[in-house]
Amino acid sequence: MPIAVEGVYTYSIPADLPFPQLGMRVLVPLANKNVVGVVQSEHTTPLDVSVRLRDVIAVLDEMPIVTKEQLSLWQWIAEYYMCPIGDVMAAALPAKIGDKTYSFSPVKKRRVHLPEYIGEIEPFHSLDAQQATALKQILTCWQTHDTTLLFGVTSSGKTEVYMHLIQSQLDAGKQVLYLVPEIALTTQLTDRLLRVFGDQVVVYHSRITDGLRAEIYRQQLFPKSRLIVGARSAVFLPFTNLGLVIVDEEHEPSYKQQDPAPRYHARSVAIMLAKMYGAKVLLGTATPSIESYYNARTGKYGLVTMKKRYSGLLLPKITMIDLTRQYHRKEMYGHFSDPLVNRIKEELAKDKQIILFQNRRGYAPMMACEACSQSPRCINCDVPMTLHLRDHRLTCHYCGYSIPMPTSCPHCGGSMKIHGFGTERVEDEMHEFVPEARVSRMDLDSTNKKSAHQEIINSFGNHEVDVLVGTQMVSKGLHFDDVSLVAVLNADNLFNQPNFRCYERAYQMLEQVSGRAGRKGKQGEVIIQTHDIKNPLYDYILHHDYEHFYESQIAERKTFNYPPFCRIITVMIRHKDLSKVLYAADELQQRLRQVFAKRCSVVIEPGIAKIQNLHMRTIQLRIEANANYARAKSMLQEQVKTIQQIPTCKYIQILCDIDPM
Ligand code: ADP
Ligand code: ZN
Repeated sequence: MPIAVEGVYTYSIPADLPFPQLGMRVLVPLANKNVVGVVQSEHTTPLDVSVRLRDVIAVLDEMPIVTKEQLSLWQWIAEYYMCPIGDVMAAALPAKIGDKTYSFSPVKKRRVHLPEYIGEIEPFHSLDAQQATALKQILTCWQTHDTTLLFGVTSSGKTEVYMHLIQSQLDAGKQVLYLVPEIALTTQLTDRLLRVFGDQVVVYHSRITDGLRAEIYRQQLFPKSRLIVGARSAVFLPFTNLGLVIVDEEHEPSYKQQDPAPRYHARSVAIMLAKMYGAKVLLGTATPSIESYYNARTGKYGLVTMKKRYSGLLLPKITMIDLTRQYHRKEMYGHFSDPLVNRIKEELAKDKQIILFQNRRGYAPMMACEACSQSPRCINCDVPMTLHLRDHRLTCHYCGYSIPMPTSCPHCGGSMKIHGFGTERVEDEMHEFVPEARVSRMDLDSTNKKSAHQEIINSFGNHEVDVLVGTQMVSKGLHFDDVSLVAVLNADNLFNQPNFRCYERAYQMLEQVSGRAGRKGKQGEVIIQTHDIKNPLYDYILHHDYEHFYESQIAERKTFNYPPFCRIITVMIRHKDLSKVLYAADELQQRLRQVFAKRCSVVIEPGIAKIQNLHMRTIQLRIEANANYARAKSMLQEQVKTIQQIPTCKYIQILCDIDPM
């Protein structure tokens, strides 16, 4: 059943009902309610004669609506990511599944047209020499490796290579799954795919309506060959003759689901899915994740590279600006260094477009009192609240709680000062020094309306806007021909995360955002402002030198024992009562210590130790890469169960995050 309970339930089939096949839905009693479940396995002899089974009330389908492969994939996910199979089903199936009157049968009148048709069919481009070679190499790699990594710099023309691969799969009557990190951020890509592949394309993600999700699901049960373009949840769809899975921007952290369970990584699930169908996998990126590149270098994956941009365009030229020096000399305009201001003015005068990146939304990350230095914090979460000047409020980015912007300190009445800056402030400062420029902002706040995202991209694409200010949203897969300058206003806050992937993320972010510069025929320019000019990361960035960056990271990970040299499991202990959390965490840690010895960390207080009134502590396990992972997990599970049997710990959430990001 698609509900969060451990295990599965067994029922008997009364003689007057047809015997359901595996994967059909049945209506069954559970406690004092009737619920819809999916038949997962059958027994002809009772498992335990002493238990009286309840009867199935009705069989809802005439044919299975969940395939055998889906059932085994979901089982694998539940075991690997240590969560109830019900959680996996809930994530996998459209909500309509619970509607007992909804029919998944093939005889349904209309085939929903998805989405509206959009302009003329476009032809393929013919591949240039580098792309043609890459295509050949990918096919060769697949003879020996089911998974191949395509490492092609930004604008090398990876999409064109994918499209040729897709066409040959469709020609052979096979299905293709094309995963993208976030559908909303990839409209340029989906539009192009729609124009090339027409109504073979189906776009699937969690933001479409329930009815549409169910309809796509239903059609997938009786497909002709098709191209599914989807966000991570598309791995759960039924497939019949899957031939290829493309994981585009494979390095993207958003492929990992954080909350709720299943906390799965779509790249790993995709590889497992492909294995079940004997399909091939292509991971594509300009900035490989350290893990994937390690797998490629050590021969587990095939590796194909494209080092040059399409049509000989040069990678952008990068300049670093030392903010400390600039501030010291008072050569700043707000948060813009003088050289940056000048370059912006020059480019605008030439009618060029500019992207400004600041990885914080709102006006400023906090306000603090000048007298007592206290800053207003969220009442539900352990964080200061962000200033949103547009609506004159302080807002918590974790739970949405907000208060009117204080005019004086709520504690001592002193005057309040604004600290730091976000995208709103960048936008405002721009208006001051180039009032005539048309500026648009793209972040979570400006894109919460349904089509807002699309509108911002279109208006920038049509030159109705000169400057696009944004958070990481602007770094992802966008192509604009006339962007000559990209600036990173403050790269330092990319390094402030207490996470072993921090450098990897920073590199990816800077390289990806740089990749937005200089597309049509001319080398682009990138300006990065930092207080930390000596940071060795910038040497790699300046030279677009992923190889050496990778070498440095892999050496560190080896020295300090991080993935891929070990595997991490984070155990999260959460409850609204802090003393209970501390008690349970301590008890669990002591037990895990006995079982796992030095593989088990101490109890960790996370950087943000309370979110939405739930206090949290974590314990980290680091398991040797070559150890029996399944056994380690079952030993962990056993200890978690023991703790949950302690009466005071009964309602404490103890959750496991496998391979956390
Ligand atoms: P990537 O995904 O590697 O960043 P794209 O596939 O988006 O790069 O290609 C970058 C640009 O080059 C796009 O505007 C694309 O239309 C163009 N392009 C790539 N390959 C070809 C080709 N073979 N013929 C014509 N244009 C191409
Ligand atoms: Zn909050």
